[in-house]
Amino acid sequence: MAKSRFNKGKAYHGSDDVQNGKLKGETCRTDYFYFLCPTCEGKQVLRVLEYEVRDHEEENKYNESFKVKAIDGFTLAFHLHCENCGFDDFTKISNIGLQHGDLREQQWSGCNFITHEAPDEVQVEDGEKL
Ligand SMILES: [Zn+2]
Repeated sequence: MAKSRFNKGKAYHGSDDVQNGKLKGETCRTDYFYFLCPTCEGKQVLRVLEYEVRDHEEENKYNESFKVKAIDGFTLAFHLHCENCGFDDFTKISNIGLQHGDLREQQWSGCNFITHEAPDEVQVEDGEKL
C-alpha cells in the first residue's frame, strides 16, 4: 500500500477538544508516552494514525534564552484517533516555542512563550492558526 501524505495533504489543526489542557497523556509500565482520549471515560489510549515533521530548523532560535542548548528545532504533528468512540484530531510536539515555566500561567495569560508579553497577532500558515 502506497504511503499517502499526512492527512491526505489536507490542512489540519487540533480542534477545541485538544486545546486548553483537554488533551492529556502519560506513560504506562515503560517509557512510551500515550495520548489519552479527551472524550472517553477513564484513560482510553489514542492511536497515532500518522505523523509528519512539520518544521525542522538546523539551529534552535530559542537556544539563546536557555543555558542548555537544543541540538536543533522541530515540530512534529500527530493524527490521533480513538478506536473506542471515534474521536479524531491532531496535536503537535515542538521544541520551537514553549519550553519552560508553569503551564497554568501560559494557559491563563495566553502570553508569549519567552518574553511573557501578549502576542501582537496570531500567526497564520496556509490559512490555519499555528
Ligand atoms: Zn474516545
